[in-house]
Order: sequence, then C-alpha cells, then structure tokens
Amino acid sequence: MREAVRIAIDKKGSDPANTPIAALLVRDGELVSSGINRTAECCDATAHAEIDALRAGGKATGEMRIEGATLYSTLQPCGMCTMAAIWAGVSRIVFGAGREDVHEMYFEDRHLSTLDFVADAYKDDLSLEGGILSDDCARLYFRPWDYVPEDQQAND
Ligand SMILES: [Zn+2]
Repeated sequence: MREAVRIAIDKKGSDPANTPIAALLVRDGELVSSGINRTAECCDATAHAEIDALRAGGKATGEMRIEGATLYSTLQPCGMCTMAAIWAGVSRIVFGAGREDVHEMYFEDRHLSTLDFVADAYKDDLSLEGGILSDDCARLYFRPWDYVPEDQQAND
C-alpha cells in the first residue's frame, strides 16, 4: 500500500482535485502492474486506477484472468472496479481509505458497495481487506466534511 500511495503522489500529486488514486496488482510477491486514475486525462469514465492496473496486468501477463493476484487500491474500489476485479479472477482486494473516510462523490451508488459485490460473487475464494494506511490514503482525497462544488463532483 505504501507503494500505491507513492505512485499516486508521484503521478498525480497530493491535491484531491487531481484525484490521485493508484492501484497495484501483485502476484507471488511480484509487482505485476500499476494504474492511476486517468478519467479526466482520457475522457474515459472507466479509466479508474483499478481498471488501469487490470488492463496493464493483462498485457503484462498475457492472461485475461490474473488468478492468485492481489489488487491494492488507495481508495475503496467502486462497484465497477470491484466487478472488474472479480471478472479478472483476482483473489484478494486490499484498499486504503474506505467509503466512510472520503466524500460521497467518490461513489456513484447509494447503497451497493464493494462488500456487497464481493459477498454476492460466484467466486468464493475472494477476500477483502480495507483500512490499510487509511489515514495516508484518505488525506489524498476530499473528506466527508469538505465542501466540493457540485460541478466538481464526479456524481453531480
Ligand atoms: Zn472504480
């Protein structure tokens, strides 16, 4: 997770306005790939850090499914990224800041969460762990009490 925080800051700085979210795929103790949020840069709503890391992981391994890998993310993965991780066959999802640590703009849904998707997946060997270095991760994002103008919110 320290490496994910380092990549987030290195690639996007520490201003929450730049959405410095990073994700890593690790398998057998080796870094497979990394990704950063590039939605604004690519004009692509699916260019979340986790999807970026999964795409890079597929290219790096030549496999669509990256069984046995751990997906680390500085922020709790959204529903789209959680489902993408399930489709990619990862075995473990580890995140830093949780949904309650950040502004609600980071999540598009009101009720469904990462935990619901993981609990409902056919894949029964998938584990989930959150809150790792959560303070270091959460300070990269708008917090629940921050005022964020509506036109700057992802889910306005
Ligand atoms: Zn996402």
